[in-house]
Amino acid sequence: MKSRKLKAIILVLSFAFVALPFVVAHGAGGRIEGRVTDPKGAVVSGATVTVTDPASNKTFSALTDDQGRYKIESLKAGTYIVIISARGFVNARREDVKVAEGGTATFDARLEIAALEASVNVATNTKANSDTVYQQLRQIGKNPQDFGGPFATVTNLVLTRDAAVFTLRSGELYFGAPVEGRITAAVFIGDGELTLVPPTPIEKRSLAIFVDDEKLAEPFAHLVIRFTDKTFEETKASASAKMSTGGPQAEKARDLYRANQQLLRKELRNNAELRVLSDLYAPQRPGYFTAYIAGARHSKLFFRLDPLGIPQVAPEEVELASYGEGDGGIWTAFHLADEYAKGTASSSEDHRLIDIMHHEIDGTIRGTRITASDVITFRNLAGGTRVVPFNLYRTLRVSRVSDEQGRDLDFIQENKEEDAAFGVILPQALEAGKTYKLTVQYDGDGALSDSGGGNYILGPRSTWYPANAGNSFGEDRAIYDMTFRYPKGHMFIGTGAPVAAETSDGDLIVARWSSGQTELAVAGFNYGRFKKKEVLDKDTGYNIEFYANEELPDEVKRVQASIQQTEAKAPERGRTVTPTTLGAISTTSMADAAIGDAENATRIYNAYFGKLPYTRIAMTQQPAFNFGQAWPTLIFMPYMAFLDSTVRSQLLKSTRGGTDDFWRYVAPHEISHQWWGHIIGWDSYHDQWMSEGFAEFSASLYVQQIRGNDKFVDFWEDHRKQIIQSSPATRDIKPYTIGPVTQGIRLSSGKTRAAYQFLVYPKGAFILHMIRMMMFNQGGRGDAKFQVMMKDFIQTHFNQDVSTEDFKAAVEKGIGGNMDWFFNEWVYGIEMPSYRFDYQLSDGGTTLTGKITQSGVSDKFKMLVPVYIDSGKGWVKVGAAWMTGNTSVDLAGVKLPQAANRAAICALDDVLALSTQNSK
Ligand SMILES: [Zn+2]
Repeated sequence: MKSRKLKAIILVLSFAFVALPFVVAHGAGGRIEGRVTDPKGAVVSGATVTVTDPASNKTFSALTDDQGRYKIESLKAGTYIVIISARGFVNARREDVKVAEGGTATFDARLEIAALEASVNVATNTKANSDTVYQQLRQIGKNPQDFGGPFATVTNLVLTRDAAVFTLRSGELYFGAPVEGRITAAVFIGDGELTLVPPTPIEKRSLAIFVDDEKLAEPFAHLVIRFTDKTFEETKASASAKMSTGGPQAEKARDLYRANQQLLRKELRNNAELRVLSDLYAPQRPGYFTAYIAGARHSKLFFRLDPLGIPQVAPEEVELASYGEGDGGIWTAFHLADEYAKGTASSSEDHRLIDIMHHEIDGTIRGTRITASDVITFRNLAGGTRVVPFNLYRTLRVSRVSDEQGRDLDFIQENKEEDAAFGVILPQALEAGKTYKLTVQYDGDGALSDSGGGNYILGPRSTWYPANAGNSFGEDRAIYDMTFRYPKGHMFIGTGAPVAAETSDGDLIVARWSSGQTELAVAGFNYGRFKKKEVLDKDTGYNIEFYANEELPDEVKRVQASIQQTEAKAPERGRTVTPTTLGAISTTSMADAAIGDAENATRIYNAYFGKLPYTRIAMTQQPAFNFGQAWPTLIFMPYMAFLDSTVRSQLLKSTRGGTDDFWRYVAPHEISHQWWGHIIGWDSYHDQWMSEGFAEFSASLYVQQIRGNDKFVDFWEDHRKQIIQSSPATRDIKPYTIGPVTQGIRLSSGKTRAAYQFLVYPKGAFILHMIRMMMFNQGGRGDAKFQVMMKDFIQTHFNQDVSTEDFKAAVEKGIGGNMDWFFNEWVYGIEMPSYRFDYQLSDGGTTLTGKITQSGVSDKFKMLVPVYIDSGKGWVKVGAAWMTGNTSVDLAGVKLPQAANRAAICALDDVLALSTQNSK
């Protein structure tokens, strides 16, 4: 990172260019003036002076000139608040500046240097939101004459956008002012209807969750449309539209547009103008279309068609959704009609504009503030691109973007409380296949938060640095080199591995981390005051590190205090008061157990899935109570997981829930994300079930190996219940009926609440469990065939993203046969069978007679149902029956290899079912 002298400071309030009124009026009233200097008395030019009238909340502002002077005039007599801010300095503030009518109040400020900025570079940001085309787009709707230009009087004008058909029966379509010669906004007022029929059975079903019908027919009274496609030209050319200018409802159209603008900026936080700008600067693109539909039944609907993919459901290009409370969610999403026609529709489609190859992040942490620069090396994928969008957490404010030659580039980033999306504008179109470098400088609070006791938590998982906006989950495999500076006494644990010993730089420690030659799907870190313990596991070769927080975070201290209070109030209950349990939240003592868990889990996963390309795995505590997460080589463990179950249940009584098994198995789950999520990523939300489902499945391997078959069966029973039982968490709908696991995040909605969690994790896990159980060979090689298949799957796609179809191909190869039936039933389908086994044992337990019944399924549904016997030493599989449809199979006098005292089907929860009854 380059360092610059402080005199180069120019001020940076990005919104100052657009929003703040600079008061230069002369005349009556008083004034406030003054001079701004640094601690040594040197002038500070370009400082922002903001004067607020606390009575009216009116704000006036000015910049200091090159003498460091400012003047704000025409102020009503009264008392004002003055705030002076300049990059690199602590704000100066005075609350009681009295202004008399016709008088002058003086406030001179000597600014103190902000500790953080003293050691890092100072940016010269003149480029935020200042692109003139962008500014024109942001201004649409502001002028009184807006929407007073061209308009069309329509009679049954039909706008067809893929599966959506907008019929504008009668009324007027008003157009916004052109920018760069192109019209990008329109408002319809009149009588119209949107009809939409999703292209696939799964999507028809999804729509029916919201409208009780497989097709939508929604009347509306107005639309706000934003587009870069040919909507204007199409309307103009249509015989159903009569063009004219200065329509009768232009003012209403403008008001509707402005209301939509407010909605997008302040509520949905979606910078629509950034998306428009991207196409205005790449005019060869076909363009996108978005309509906000004030429907008669559903007033908060919107429809989008974007050939670059819709952010949440990319690479899918078409979406109908609602931002309403009760009906909110993605109603339907799919690929373009011609992709289905050509058979190319797939979650492996790549609409990314760029492929990031390298992040070189240089950051400083002070308190909760991160100041960083990221040198991003990327290959441009789509020729003609001039606007490159990134995902960057909204409180991290960009001060400067520069290119390889060190030239400042324009960029977009609005107010952090509004539509703060970050995008870079290149001076000319990028060439396809060429490699470029950008340097982004940014800083801010909010990404890192302080939980007390020297504990910090990094909130944004993949957006604390500028991540590729073309990937819906923010993950784009790249090499990461990170240098971080932070106050002594703290530790920084990154992804990858340290490349050198820590050094010091004044009162800061400097740590360097790198992913080496292995691209990581995402990078992160943990930071705070830790105690470290480590073990080199000779069996796997991984160095297992454990970082325990030295002190309890505030939240746990609060819970601790409240429990102690409760106990103090109720000693008469005669229960043994256990102050020691909470005193014992000294989690450092849990380090050995955690390291043991990690060693066991990694040994098991190495045997089932193969070796990782990483040399170390760090288990770190995070001050969050109830969730864990994993980055490559780095795992965040929730506090709860480190407590013994007695303490845990004591805490759970007073705080939020989570079953005890969740806490027990959160470590094996998170550790397995090194394989499922990092080494094997997922193409789209349709495929993400493999990441969470397989991680949950991996936890079952741990349970079976470490805690035995009884706990293993308990584990699957618990998962089965999550899938089949309704609860308020899914609006009392049985989760499995909502949709297939491939619907991913979309399973959750205003109609179905948290259904995602009740399907993607447990049913995703069950799918792999059922495959394992079918492949299990008890007499011979056990899991050998399954392990070969899983290792082959990983090797084939090592450090890549996969689709559900890639996994299907791996299973077909591993099993040696077509698996359409299995995937259609369990992965893409929602069927749920029930089983019954009535049996007798005779001849001293050596002959088995019985009847297996499968019910509650469609005629084509087939499944392999295993039969087990128990001779007193646990379940042994003796065979399996193919069952198709609602049917029964008789076992007539089957000779058993040994005398049994009981028999069962699906003894290890081999088949996911509503119920499995075994009766003798
Ligand atoms: Zn997970």
